[in-house]
Amino acid sequence: MTIWFATGNEHKRRELSAILAGHSVKIPSDAGIAFDPDETGDVFLENAFIKAHALFEMVHEPVVADDSGLCVDALGGRPGVYSARYGGVAGGKLTSSERNALLLKEIDNAGIAVCRTARFVCAMALVLSKDRFLAVQETLEGEIIGEERGTNGFGYDPIFFLPERGLTVAELSEREKNSISHRAKAARAIGKMLETI
Ligand code: IMP
Repeated sequence: MTIWFATGNEHKRRELSAILAGHSVKIPSDAGIAFDPDETGDVFLENAFIKAHALFEMVHEPVVADDSGLCVDALGGRPGVYSARYGGVAGGKLTSSERNALLLKEIDNAGIAVCRTARFVCAMALVLSKDRFLAVQETLEGEIIGEERGTNGFGYDPIFFLPERGLTVAELSEREKNSISHRAKAARAIGKMLETI
């Protein structure tokens, strides 16, 4: 089955394609579709539905959309839904490394004995028709370390440490990340739903 994934992020496409292996995962740019809906939601699930319904209106085929981000306990759950835009200034976004450096500085400023626990969160929605959909939200628990480690993955992966593995997510292979990540867990639930249709 063709599943449209409402993203422009190639890393995310590869992750989803690996999990929904029996399906053909397409993203808007594959069909020359300019896709950049306003993510106006206050919570991940709201943004996932905004993206999923917007793309469904364009392609009229099954659509998966996710909204994800990093929630840091010491920062009251920020950057959360604003993870992609964190630290952005008028006229441009920061690079991932600049964003990570800014986050580390903000956590340091929160205090010496600050708790460094955090989680990646992924809300994912599958829209099969205007009236038929499924939603799931999953997490990956970890801690924020003091400097970047590893070159795999994207975004906050180099500073997101998994204590039980002694590695950051950026030090995992793509396959390892796909076995434990917030997005992978959500995508597996969506995959099960797809088996039933
Ligand atoms: P979205 O594309 O609107 O869902 O934005 C998600 C943002 O959250 C990304 O741009 C990253 O900054 C961050 N993020 C979400 N998932 C991950 C992940 O698996 N690794 C690293 N950063 C992530």
